[in-house]
Amino acid sequence: MDCIFCKIIAGQIPSDVVYKDDKVIAFRDISPMAPVHLLIVPRQHIVSLNDVAEAQVTLVGHIVHVAKLLAKQQGIAEKGYRVVINCGRDGGQAVQHLHVHLLGGRELVNGLG
Ligand code: AMP
Repeated sequence: MDCIFCKIIAGQIPSDVVYKDDKVIAFRDISPMAPVHLLIVPRQHIVSLNDVAEAQVTLVGHIVHVAKLLAKQQGIAEKGYRVVINCGRDGGQAVQHLHVHLLGGRELVNGLG
């Protein structure tokens, strides 16, 4: 499959991995918007939030839980951080594999676009 995140998960493209388990992988964004900018990605190829089935709701909860754990691990939990899912064209989704952005390490002032 021609999906850059599937290739990262398969180890075919290098990435700076900070966390893995049997369901998700997390790595540093190649073009960081903040001192801490991680992507948390399910191993399973799900195109976007629109494509999450009811049976995958637990997986999405797990991704958000991992974001919380990584915020602590990265030392940004106390000051705060932002967790973002872009969905579709108007949502600014560039990579067609569901992912959660974890951003922090600076004050994220200007809202939600
Ligand atoms: P989105 O706009 O929500 O689809 O976000 C996609 C993110 O993936 C962007 O922030 C990109 O910088 C990031 N990205 C694209 N290719 C790579 C890569 N090879 N390694 C790490 N991050 C990537």
